[in-house]
Amino acid sequence: MQTYEITVLKGDGIGPEIVDQAVKVLDKAGEKFGFSLHYTRAYLGGEAIDEKGCPLPEETVAACKAADAVLLGAVGGPKWDSLSGDQRPEAGLLGIRGALGLFANLRPAVIFEPLKEASPIKAEIIGDALDILVVRELTGGIYFGQRGRETVDGVESAYDTERYSVPEIERIARVGFSMAQKRGKKLCSVDKANVLESSRLWRATVTRVAQEYPDVELSHMYVDNCAMQLVRNPKQFDVILTSNIFGDILSDEASMISGSIGMLASASLGENQFGLYEPIHGSAPDIAGTGLANPLATILSAGMMLKYTLGQPEAAQAVEDAVSKALTQARTPDIYREGGAQKKVTCEEMGDLVCSLL
Ligand code: NAD
Repeated sequence: MQTYEITVLKGDGIGPEIVDQAVKVLDKAGEKFGFSLHYTRAYLGGEAIDEKGCPLPEETVAACKAADAVLLGAVGGPKWDSLSGDQRPEAGLLGIRGALGLFANLRPAVIFEPLKEASPIKAEIIGDALDILVVRELTGGIYFGQRGRETVDGVESAYDTERYSVPEIERIARVGFSMAQKRGKKLCSVDKANVLESSRLWRATVTRVAQEYPDVELSHMYVDNCAMQLVRNPKQFDVILTSNIFGDILSDEASMISGSIGMLASASLGENQFGLYEPIHGSAPDIAGTGLANPLATILSAGMMLKYTLGQPEAAQAVEDAVSKALTQARTPDIYREGGAQKKVTCEEMGDLVCSLL
């Protein structure tokens, strides 16, 4: 039987409770689909500061590198807020992404049928359901380009540089196309090629890489138009491929159409499909240990792991279907609606329900 090595970083606040639910669901999926998972626990963030004296211990990096994939809860909390920048839990988060060479960020924007009413988008625009994947380049572009300030004739100015090399574009484009192959086989590359030279290189390179993926339909769109189309007609999109800065903005816009922070999953991928999977939200210290946390973003992140790193698409689909069914029966308090047909449940009860529906 195939066994996958998973490094688990529970982190702080609600991290341990939500990760426990996702691990339960992964195990149930393995039982059902004939594979097993072996977990190695490592420390990150505040728990690592308490246990090991720094937010990203070397053994955590080593454990992650040795694994097929990493499952992360969230880090941070008031206990560590007085520490200086590089000593804070969040420094561990940035550090681990860098140490693992994670250059592709995947953020699905999904509206599950039973949660349609929570979306700010009108029901007639959403239709039955909505499922978009934003693939964002994570380690290049203007956030990492040359920057500076200068004063000429007493006037101060500042600049940042958007710079992409062909290999950087090719590598993220291949991630985008291979994601599209596993989904609806449509990829929309978003740029600003009418103005920016870096976007013209982006567009030419993506067009060339498309020849390796004849089964995927490629289109191009300017970023300003894409921002508009995401709310006007989001159903036209399957995979959106874009640069670091455009992806930062568009993935936030796209994820908000799902209407609840407790439902938003994400993945960051490196070479060879290696990935770190985590919910978008933080460690929610205000509700930690109360049973109020919604574990579905973490469970859906585990579902993405099955699909994009472990090569278990049927198990991934089963997890998504179980989540959708669970939403018709029960809700954690963040998505509960008074007078609705669903009962209010705790974090653990939601995890158990998803397992029972798998
Ligand atoms: P947060 O996402 O933790 O919480 C924002 C609000 O959403 C809170 O009211 C919280 O109770 C609620 N919420 C979040 N996740 C929820 C869930 N699964 N179920 C139900 N409700 C949920 O953001 P914040 O309050 O700004 O930050 C808290 C801590 O988390 C800070 O230390 C911050 O630095 C850290 N943080 C970590 C990450 C990460 O680990 N990736 C991301 C963002 C923030």
